Amino acid sequence: MPTIIKSMKYEIIRPVSCEWPIFQYILKTLQQESFRLKNRVVQYCYQQEFLPVAPTDKPFRTWLYQVISDEFGIVHAKNLTSTVTQAERVWHQSRQAVLAGRQSFPSFRNTNPILLHKASIRHGAFVDHGRHVELELSLLSRVGQQWVRSLPHWTEEQRAAMGTTYTVRIHAGRNLARHILEQWINGETPIRESSIVYQETKHKWFLNLTYAVESSQLPHDSRVLGVRMADPNRAVMVVSDRPDWSCVIEGSAVKQHHLAMESKRRRLQRQIRVCGSGRTGHGRKKRLEPLTELEDKVSRFRATVNHTYARRIVDTAVRLGCSSIRMDDLSLRSSGSAFLGAWTYFDLQMQVLRKAADKGIDVVKMDPRILERQCSQCGAGSKSSGPNYHCEHCDYQSTTEENALRNLIRLPMERLPRGEETR
Ligand SMILES: [Zn+2]
Repeated sequence: MPTIIKSMKYEIIRPVSCEWPIFQYILKTLQQESFRLKNRVVQYCYQQEFLPVAPTDKPFRTWLYQVISDEFGIVHAKNLTSTVTQAERVWHQSRQAVLAGRQSFPSFRNTNPILLHKASIRHGAFVDHGRHVELELSLLSRVGQQWVRSLPHWTEEQRAAMGTTYTVRIHAGRNLARHILEQWINGETPIRESSIVYQETKHKWFLNLTYAVESSQLPHDSRVLGVRMADPNRAVMVVSDRPDWSCVIEGSAVKQHHLAMESKRRRLQRQIRVCGSGRTGHGRKKRLEPLTELEDKVSRFRATVNHTYARRIVDTAVRLGCSSIRMDDLSLRSSGSAFLGAWTYFDLQMQVLRKAADKGIDVVKMDPRILERQCSQCGAGSKSSGPNYHCEHCDYQSTTEENALRNLIRLPMERLPRGEETR
């Protein structure tokens, strides 16, 4: 069964093994270290492209881990590995665009989450009449422990409480939040790499617990073809179990033709008002003749183009053995160009629906707002808008379009709004 990664946020109520000022100091430092660390990783990766920084007798990654753990020795080793891996991933996601000059260098802010390897979080039990849960978090390395102890501003008693791991209490929450904790404690839901984030507006620290759920509604053997037409000039197709595969249907001809037709139509409309007696027959019908002809032409062209699009989409689904096609439901899209909305998409969707039905393939319409705003890596929601997507929880950076595409094939069926499934 495929697993889907989701995350849930829990407020850290208080540390148990030490006082707040110490814990806060450690978290702030780790946050700072994590942000510098990730920028450093991206910097080395970038340098390696042009002027290799690693010695030739050593694999780059081995070298990278070594220099990074030398520089950021206070971070717990497992968390350090997770952080380096995440920064590397961010780099690789934007590498091509950066090298081609289409995108700026990925950078991280100092409000960065502190990544915790899944082995760095151990659960205790429900405490305080079930309102809180006690957790043990591995945060510092031995070097880190010595470093924090060596700082002059602590008392002897405070120094003694400083370890590599810290016990905290988190707010168990209600409903789903609570259910996830129960499942984790019972050993039913495994957790994944998670993070600690500071919410500036609330002046509070939160644990973003990432967990995996199995989706029963998306059987493993059923492939899904996702189609996005966010840009009126292109349709992009992606497949659920082949992350590297994508296919673009260029539709620039569609737009160009449409624009040409539009200007011709306006020209004709102007002419009708002023045309001489040559074209004025017995009335309105004769006057409008050229316009009607043009409109027929436009609709014939549209039908042909959409037919070609739809056939390519459905043929691809058949060729790849997909059992369903997912497209975004344009009626739910908050913003969209008139051209796309009025002209192409609905008709295209209808044609895909008809052709897919002939081949026994389901067509599912997805809510574009969910596709665009949910993080495709950790499942966290985001208010992020505009062409670039940045997840505040896992630091995933991408374009909004790319994120939506990933979501299109990743999201389980249960995320779909009711009654949106179409056959
Ligand atoms: Zn995320």
